Amino acid sequence: MGRAKREADAGTTPTNAAPGTLEGFAQVAERVAATTKKLEKAALLGAYFDDLSDEDLALGARYFAGQQFAQHDARTTNVGAGLLRDVVSEVTGLEVENLRPRYVRLGDSGEVAYEAFAEARRETPAPRHTLAGTQSLMRILSETRGTKNKKALLVGALAGATPLEAKYLVKLLVGDLRIGLKEGLVEDAVARAFGRGLASVARVNMLTGDIGETAVRARRGDLEGVRMRLFHPIKFMLATAAADLADIARQMPEEFYVEDKFDGIRAQAHAEGGRVALYTRTLDEVTHRFPELVAPLATLPSDAVIDGEIVPVRGAAILPFAELQKRLGRKTVSDELRAASPVAFVAYDLLYSGGRVLVEEPLEERRRVLEGIIPEGPSATLRLSEAKRMSEASGLDAEFDAARARGNEGLMIKDPRSSYKPGKRGRDWLKLKRALATLDVVVTSVEVGHGKRRHLLSDYTFAVRRSEEDPELLNIGKAYSGLTDAELAELTGWFRAHTVEEFAHGRVRVVEPKIVLEVTFDRVQESKRHKGGYALRFPRILRLRDDKTADEIDTLEAVRRLVEESNQ
Ligand code: AMP
Repeated sequence: MGRAKREADAGTTPTNAAPGTLEGFAQVAERVAATTKKLEKAALLGAYFDDLSDEDLALGARYFAGQQFAQHDARTTNVGAGLLRDVVSEVTGLEVENLRPRYVRLGDSGEVAYEAFAEARRETPAPRHTLAGTQSLMRILSETRGTKNKKALLVGALAGATPLEAKYLVKLLVGDLRIGLKEGLVEDAVARAFGRGLASVARVNMLTGDIGETAVRARRGDLEGVRMRLFHPIKFMLATAAADLADIARQMPEEFYVEDKFDGIRAQAHAEGGRVALYTRTLDEVTHRFPELVAPLATLPSDAVIDGEIVPVRGAAILPFAELQKRLGRKTVSDELRAASPVAFVAYDLLYSGGRVLVEEPLEERRRVLEGIIPEGPSATLRLSEAKRMSEASGLDAEFDAARARGNEGLMIKDPRSSYKPGKRGRDWLKLKRALATLDVVVTSVEVGHGKRRHLLSDYTFAVRRSEEDPELLNIGKAYSGLTDAELAELTGWFRAHTVEEFAHGRVRVVEPKIVLEVTFDRVQESKRHKGGYALRFPRILRLRDDKTADEIDTLEAVRRLVEESNQ
């Protein structure tokens, strides 16, 4: 639905359903979607939160943040867009063939459900879902194995749902409401609604790993004295790309830290009382993939949450990322595989240690504590990233070359005074990467290949986001090569399960935009054929970025900058 249409609808949508119902939630969500103004969104949420019981407030806050369970809770419902389409077809009686083109037109499973439900029913039933009931459904789905069983549950839940209930149940199950809300805005709305500081709301959300509990505490005025709960991942702090050395000199204070930029898997290690867990940037737990990291983390002198990178190594030397790829995608890591491709964890930041939350401390203090708990030794399985203090940006050229010679990707430059800002891409950390321009993009549609790849979905059309705020995806190119056959085979299965629309007997498929790739190309050219106005010439896939989600891909702005740079 276009914005104008949504605004018109929102004006007439009555907001009279009880707050603890799914219909009530959906009515507010529609109004949130209809405005682009952050303050208005926050005010709508605030008024809604105010009316909810504690239990419903916890659910409402999580649902608006696009979460089915608290963030610290590892459960998932595992329901894909394909399954939801089959359910909508069964409940409405509309053929799958009839639904397919609607996905292309509307671009969102929830919108398709709304249209299909509105069309299929002569009379709109009375709303019957509550937030608590929705949560029971999520719980049961998370405990149910097999598509058939999940489908039966969903058909039961959606039969008799109103179009608006169906729309938001589907959106919640897909895990993205797409109403222009991020978790940060929900924190802001909670802070405003209950008259608390945004910083303390965000802090409690980070410590507890639950925006729902945070909202309830904010209302009660109970935000102090919350202790860190380990074993839920905290969002990672991100870096901004520096254009050149002058850019760094301008942004950084007189003295700054310089570290190698390691090309591995970003990971957060939690360790307490002998228990250890490792989480990736997408907040998935991957401890079982790196068994050799458990013992060194379990025997640290204190409990800790450490930020760092898992890299392939041989002794003190760090190897290319490709070495690590050998271990990814394997369900079990055998002793042979461990011996053939050993890894190390390079620690570069510390968020918590010895009962002390450190995120608000300056980086130099966090490093000081980190240096005290990581054992010495450049070849250790758990090792410290070397941080040099420098004061001349001109010296960075030599550092960059040295980092490249050590096999690393480039440099990270960090402000020693900066706090750790979870989930933020700020200017306290700058990255200086290889000369080759690359973009992180998301796959939007796929096609079968040719020759020996004729049985694989190997040709990918990919997109960037319109902007940080606007998630609209704009296709900018199509790539045919760069991944291994094993990766292509695995992705082919994934794309089949996550197809939203197929053409030419399944040879061409529009897919859920979730697979992120890092691509390179010869140059960017302007293109009338592409909605975003640009196309990449001769794009090649460098690698799969399964550590990134579609919200983290590059934007049209980054593409424009590349064009400007190449015109200089
Ligand atoms: P990119 O993945 O290109 O957006 O670059 C940011 C990533 O660099 C971070 O998410 C980390 O995974 C990685 N990185 C590598 N070395 C460091 C380091 N020394 N400090 C912080 N991040 C690093």
